[in-house]
Amino acid sequence: MGIHNKTVAELVQGLKNKEFSCVELTQNYLQRIKTSNLNAFITITDELALAQARDADEKIAKNQSGALTGIPYAHKDIFCTNGIKTSAGSKMLDNFIAPYDATVSYKLNQQHLVMLGKTNMDEFAMGSSNESSFYGAVKNPWNQNKSPGGSSGGSAAAVAARLVPFATGTDTGGSIRQPSSLCGITGLKPTYGRISRYGMIAYASSLDQAGPITQTAQDAALVLNAIAGFDEKDSTSARREVEDYTATLNDSIKGLKIGLPREFFSEGLDDDVARVVMTAVKVFESMGAIVQDISLPNSKFAIPTYYIVAPCECSSNLSRMDGVRFGYRCENPKDLEDLYLRSRTEGFGAEVKRRIMIGNYALSAGYYDAYYLKAQKVRHLISDDFKKAFKTIDVVMGPVSPTTAFDLGAFTDPVSMYLADIYTLSANLAGLPGMSIPAGFAQGLPVGLQMIGNYWHESKLLNIAHQFQQITDYHRQTPDGL
Ligand code: GLN
Repeated sequence: MGIHNKTVAELVQGLKNKEFSCVELTQNYLQRIKTSNLNAFITITDELALAQARDADEKIAKNQSGALTGIPYAHKDIFCTNGIKTSAGSKMLDNFIAPYDATVSYKLNQQHLVMLGKTNMDEFAMGSSNESSFYGAVKNPWNQNKSPGGSSGGSAAAVAARLVPFATGTDTGGSIRQPSSLCGITGLKPTYGRISRYGMIAYASSLDQAGPITQTAQDAALVLNAIAGFDEKDSTSARREVEDYTATLNDSIKGLKIGLPREFFSEGLDDDVARVVMTAVKVFESMGAIVQDISLPNSKFAIPTYYIVAPCECSSNLSRMDGVRFGYRCENPKDLEDLYLRSRTEGFGAEVKRRIMIGNYALSAGYYDAYYLKAQKVRHLISDDFKKAFKTIDVVMGPVSPTTAFDLGAFTDPVSMYLADIYTLSANLAGLPGMSIPAGFAQGLPVGLQMIGNYWHESKLLNIAHQFQQITDYHRQTPDGL
């Protein structure tokens, strides 16, 4: 097994046992990144990485290492990284060098991890295919004609192709879980507020949440330990103690109550995907779990609700990109009006403009009550469905995406792409933790199983996922030639 196929947990052991140095490890990954043709990276930070690696080796030699000292990783290019380009996949921020670190970056630096670079993503995290990136689409390592999913497509493709042991992602409506599903890896979106949003370029502030993209649930637990926690710089981060997410990985899941929402298994779900998901559910039954049919009746409103709330919030968040303070500025503006207009016209891509326009429309006087306020009310109903369900079950299971990875260019109209978010949006609208784990293959492509847990039940999700990964090896399978 190549060094690049090792999990984070295995690399930690390898570094500790001096099987390789952190500099060697880092060089190995940088080499893989540079020879890859997936377009998974926007920026490769090789000099910084080697400096951090030397530093980590020193810490290890002096026995001063923490849990993840010397572990290489990549950041989705939505996290501000001090002195390093942070583009959010947009022409608007193509020239933006972040003047500070996001809290997630800060924490990983403090713990002496090694950042290899910044990964490609849909522009401002808007999209499900990575095709809205100013830097071009990312290719799915399982089949390069296919999309890796989005918006954290670069992070997911990089982990699946073993270009990095783990990467960060963000999930506003599925952007960690869906690309993890389509690339055959493990992705966790924690409860809203578990990880600080400070320095994470905002898309829809009431929905955005960061999380780890890894090979295994054990690795997700290790990374979550490193990045979770209250942050006084983010008023929506939770004042709640960080557990040791690795502590309960080995607990038995006998008697676990799994709810299968019938709305997640209806029309539109690919038969082969449904078959893989149900086979995975049977594996849980064989481990002593009890399966129950449930209903989340309002989840059918998740798409219209999300596609009001998210554009409204993004239209407000993106108003700061005005060509004045930072980012793209048009050439030779005639006057201030022209500066705003042309900077935004030239700096934003089509999908971002579409959402800004929808958001501004829905928030305007006279429409606010009919759209935004109404959407917020339906959002409550969606949360209430889950609250009710969690009175009788421990975890919701279902598909992540209605299909396996689709061809690049397959979606020609935006609405059909929005419809494919049907299974992921509800968890964000309710603020609940969700996960995608490799559950099998259909048409030669990976299929993820989605698990949604109750608030703050990250440990439970990780425990369930880890137990599944103890008796299956889907998470160990790699695209050809790796
Ligand atoms: N596909 C969804 C959207 O385009 C979700 C994206 C995300 O989670 N960032 O809004």
